[in-house]
Amino acid sequence: MDTVWILGDQLSRSSPVLADASPDADRILMIEADDAIAGRSFHRQRLHLVLTSMRRFAESLRDEGFEVDYRRAPTFREGLADHREAFRPGRIRATEPSSWWMHGRMEDWDVELVRSDAFLCHYDEFREWAQGRRRLVMEDFYRWQRTRFGYLMDGDEPAGGKWNFDAANREPPDRDRVEWPQPMHGDLDEVDHAVIGALPPSAFGAVPDGVWATTRKGALDRLDRFISERLPTFGPGQDAMLTGQWSMLHSLISPYLNIGLLHPHEVCDAAEAAYRSGSVPIESAEGFIRQVLGWREYVWGVYWLWMPEYADRNHLDAGRPLPPLFETGETDMHCVSDVLDAVDRHAYAHHIQRLMIVANLALIAGIDPQALTDWMRRAFVDGADWVMVPNVVGMGLYADGGMMATKPYAAGGNYINRMSDYCSGCRFDPKKRVGPDACPFTTLYWDFLDRNQEKLATNHRLSRQLGGARRLSDMPLVRERALDVLEAMDRGAL
Ligand SMILES: Cc1cc2nc3c(=O)[nH]c(=O)nc-3n(C[C@H](O)[C@H](O)[C@H](O)COP(=O)(O)OP(=O)(O)OC[C@H]3O[C@@H](n4cnc5c(N)ncnc54)[C@H](O)[C@@H]3O)c2cc1C
Ligand code: SF4
Repeated sequence: MDTVWILGDQLSRSSPVLADASPDADRILMIEADDAIAGRSFHRQRLHLVLTSMRRFAESLRDEGFEVDYRRAPTFREGLADHREAFRPGRIRATEPSSWWMHGRMEDWDVELVRSDAFLCHYDEFREWAQGRRRLVMEDFYRWQRTRFGYLMDGDEPAGGKWNFDAANREPPDRDRVEWPQPMHGDLDEVDHAVIGALPPSAFGAVPDGVWATTRKGALDRLDRFISERLPTFGPGQDAMLTGQWSMLHSLISPYLNIGLLHPHEVCDAAEAAYRSGSVPIESAEGFIRQVLGWREYVWGVYWLWMPEYADRNHLDAGRPLPPLFETGETDMHCVSDVLDAVDRHAYAHHIQRLMIVANLALIAGIDPQALTDWMRRAFVDGADWVMVPNVVGMGLYADGGMMATKPYAAGGNYINRMSDYCSGCRFDPKKRVGPDACPFTTLYWDFLDRNQEKLATNHRLSRQLGGARRLSDMPLVRERALDVLEAMDRGAL
């Protein structure tokens, strides 16, 4: 008999490696590797999502008649060796893994890798698309994807007459809205409790409460609910933030896409169908499909194109260690404390919180990109190497020197004030850059431009801001205040 080895982020029954498998010819192998689970501290909800989903997936394959060797082992290598010893399989096949590191290891272990269909654009196709291009512009890739898959297309033309509705999708939050759709919750059963009870002592964050599904059915139900309740107004409110509204109108489907419980095709199909039925306006349908068909696939493509050197990039020579507030969640910066509270309670923050609060703070404070990547990978329910590395190193921290983003996503308190209600509940003043109540974001934003004048000088998209920083008459005071802010942040007193 042959073996089909399924990793924890490959829980798709329709993947090519399983579509070909049969209980008569194939045995299934699944491994819970201690070094991957307990070797570093992960958020409880991240570990629970993956381990519970794996166990349920194994059970569903047993129900189909497959023999499943579900084993716990110190490492993947040892689990595989023990399986070989116990069953002496003919071949061991597996879907190509999502991590560059694991790919190399599986090849070394003589595992036959089957081409993955988990993304609409395989990284080989992305490589072809990228060939000969001076810059890999996401918008160009996204249009190519739209055209070849026919999403939101009326013949050769984009639906609604435009490719991009970004301009309509940057609205500040609707502060008067009283009712916000609440995320779905499911009940926890004995499988959940068994996993939760055995989580390693190093795990952190709130105990799972049923918000994250661990079955395909649960993931599909949540997708349906998103399409009917949130997608109609998703677009315009995409960048908005409100205190205590941890999910706003976001879909919360990244964990399912990332572990194989949902496929990007069915997600885009659902959004397209809602648009065609008239229940969702074009700016929301386009804004959402852009995320899944454009950004997600682009990030996947650049990860495979640029690894492994990419993960270690540090263009701005940022070396500050992660300050204590990332572990304690304690800070007077209201925006940061609200986001870290959401991470603690749900292992989640929505895109603009990740980019414009967490990553922005790290960027302008000069925090080590690899330290932030590591923290985010451990703290988020949807964390994975392929998606974390480009989003943190490239998009968030500009550590790749502009390979991905055309300019750093650096912003001061005024941006956060415009896009949220955070500042009204904060002891700092977003308009001030000097003085004891100056907003740390505002101070550090100007200090960041000042500190990095030389490295950013060739970026024409930044010339206005760099010129502004050069003309600031109070720059000496800004520098002084920035030193105080950074010193307080380092000792956990900001
Ligand atoms: C610093 C930083 C770190 C991030 N880390 C992760 C991560 O570990 N895992 C992860 O899946 N996403 C990550 N993202 C991308 C994005 O923030 C999340 O996918 C999104 O917030 C997940 O929530 P949602 O499902 O409610 O998304 P929605 O806002 O509803 O968007 C829909 C879907 O689009 C996809 N998407 C949108 N933007 C991106 C992007 N930039 N990269 C990849 N997919 C995207 C996701 O699959 C998401 O589920 C990160 C972004 C930044 C800036
Ligand atoms: S004033 Fe500054 S620190 Fe406070 S919430 Fe606003 S942006 Fe955040």
